Amino acid sequence: MESIPTPSPEELAKMVEKAQRDLQAALEKMTPEERAQAEARAQQAIEADRAYMQALVADAAKVAAGFPPKEAEAPKEAEAPNFCPNCGAPVVPGGKFCAHCGRPL
Ligand SMILES: [Zn+2]
Repeated sequence: MESIPTPSPEELAKMVEKAQRDLQAALEKMTPEERAQAEARAQQAIEADRAYMQALVADAAKVAAGFPPKEAEAPKEAEAPNFCPNCGAPVVPGGKFCAHCGRPL
């Protein structure tokens, strides 16, 4: 095996032409059933990509709507008020009573 030299643009064009001829020859050898199967596989790959993109968009929409998975894992902390609803004093997250006025939280 000799080392592969970097092909020139002309050589690259010939390689692309040959690949296209090979592909065309392969397609012509295919039966209509084989061609339909190949097209079905290509379609499935496109559908899988589309489903993946839709999942990404759905996740982004959830985050944008204010429901990131992080908050869903710790709902108690997310629901705890940061300020006493009675006197407005800052309260410790997860605390049961306001340290300022004693109101149950
Ligand atoms: Zn208070």
